[in-house]
Amino acid sequence: VARDAEFFRSSKGFSAMTGAEVSAIDRGRRVVTVKMAATGETIEHGYDKLVLATGASPVKPGFPIPDDPRVRPFQKPEDAQVFRRMAEAGKIGKVVIVGGGLIGCELVESAAGLWGLETALVEKEGHILPYVLDSEMAAMAQRHLESQGISVMTGCEVDRIKSRGEAGLQVGIEGSDALEADFVFLALGVQPNVDLARQCGLDIGPNGGIQVDRHMCTSDPRIFAGGDCVETTHRITGKTFFISMGSLANRHGRVIAEILAGGNEEFPGAFGTSFLKLFDYNLGATGLTERRAAASGFKPRCVWGTFPDKPDYHPEKRIFVVKMVYDGDSERLLGLQALGRGDATRRVDVFAALLQKQATVGDLFDFEPGYAPLYSEALDPLHHLAGMARARQRGVMFRHPGHALSSEAGEIMILDVREKEEAAAKPLPAAVAECGCDYSNIPLSELVERSSEVRRDKRIVVVCQRGSRSYQAALFLKAAGVHEVEVLGGGLQSQL
Ligand SMILES: Cc1cc2nc3c(=O)[nH]c(=O)nc-3n(C[C@H](O)[C@H](O)[C@H](O)COP(=O)(O)OP(=O)(O)OC[C@H]3O[C@@H](n4cnc5c(N)ncnc54)[C@H](O)[C@@H]3O)c2cc1C
Repeated sequence: VARDAEFFRSSKGFSAMTGAEVSAIDRGRRVVTVKMAATGETIEHGYDKLVLATGASPVKPGFPIPDDPRVRPFQKPEDAQVFRRMAEAGKIGKVVIVGGGLIGCELVESAAGLWGLETALVEKEGHILPYVLDSEMAAMAQRHLESQGISVMTGCEVDRIKSRGEAGLQVGIEGSDALEADFVFLALGVQPNVDLARQCGLDIGPNGGIQVDRHMCTSDPRIFAGGDCVETTHRITGKTFFISMGSLANRHGRVIAEILAGGNEEFPGAFGTSFLKLFDYNLGATGLTERRAAASGFKPRCVWGTFPDKPDYHPEKRIFVVKMVYDGDSERLLGLQALGRGDATRRVDVFAALLQKQATVGDLFDFEPGYAPLYSEALDPLHHLAGMARARQRGVMFRHPGHALSSEAGEIMILDVREKEEAAAKPLPAAVAECGCDYSNIPLSELVERSSEVRRDKRIVVVCQRGSRSYQAALFLKAAGVHEVEVLGGGLQSQL
């Protein structure tokens, strides 16, 4: 059922006016001025309490946008409709998407996956999804996009767009060749709509959104605000940030409604939990990235693992890579990033619920999921991550999957603890095979007997396919007197 004025009248008993724009707020008289689009008429409306839910608008680039319907943001249904009509008419061969955030990446999938168009994604930061993922996790997402034929350019800033009529569009990139396109989406993020709030003197926060307290109340006790127009408190750092999420906007609305009805509800802030589908990959993240945790004054430690979402013998099992960030001093959980074909999102949701309780690595061991082979393994990936973090706390180092082995080739020996048949069947990824390090294959099942073969004069980087066996091997080697042991985070899978 369409959520139109009639729906709200008949199901909720309140009147909604559409085609009506509030152009001013007079806080002294407690009146808003409303301009009716159909007639141009201006009316005044009094209030006892006022709620601002003016949303956010697409960020505009720092150069002029040509007056051409083929260059547009992606915010309104009309943006999708224009694109669809042109795609159906066969008028689009090449699409350029400017901005590699959540919306830009979703658009890539639609343009290439749904419409089969040649698609390029341009991101000015050093990696895609810069506010959601750390660089090595983003590199895995990027490799997946590239495997689907997408051209991904990072660290590249678009500085002009030229409309050439029938000849299409030209997208200029600073310091690089221009791209040809038939359609350009500008997915540069959104900024809160605060003109009304600013004009009537409400406090605006450091991130450009309306400042509200835990009751979603603005600096005027009669005016509340929620959704994309407000700043949100981060539940780990305690600092405000700006995030545009329908999930949060709905929860803001509930809190405000309770308050207006005489309640005392509070909105606790957000962790920034978000999901994204990238072709057949599920991607999710919550809490702080490693970079953000460090910038917020934590001493982040990280562990990585690759896991199946069901037992390995299950024909429908799919794998996914996870990175967990926690504080090295307090062992408090800080963030999780996950991506792959497996059900990564479920773990992100569970982790977000644990963040809410300020849980630690120890609490993660105590998390009690259901187990039946159709759905899961006896030990959940989150349990394994807790085990890895414990190993890390006991001195087993986890090698950042983004750090090239070749840069320390002379100092490292790679110890592959995969079974012999497995190692023969699954060749090492190029980043490992060609790194120039010494290499030895001692399967985990033979490690106790053959541990004397492990060299003591080099740093040992233990590898297995997914990372779980290598941290167990590393724990054993440490106990057996091998001091310099590292685990390749996420296993060989993270290098593919
Ligand atoms: C392409 C896209 C995909 C998204 N996907 C997701 C997702 O998967 N998950 C998720 O959680 N979020 C997602 N979001 C974000 C989500 O849509 C927003 O967070 C949510 O809509 C915010 O709700 P809101 O009510 O604050 O603002 P809006 O939905 O933007 O509504 C604000 C309304 O206020 C009206 N308005 C503004 N000024 C005035 C005025 N002066 N007078 C009268 N009316 C006014 C506007 O016309 C608009 O209708 C997505 C957003 C986009 C663009």
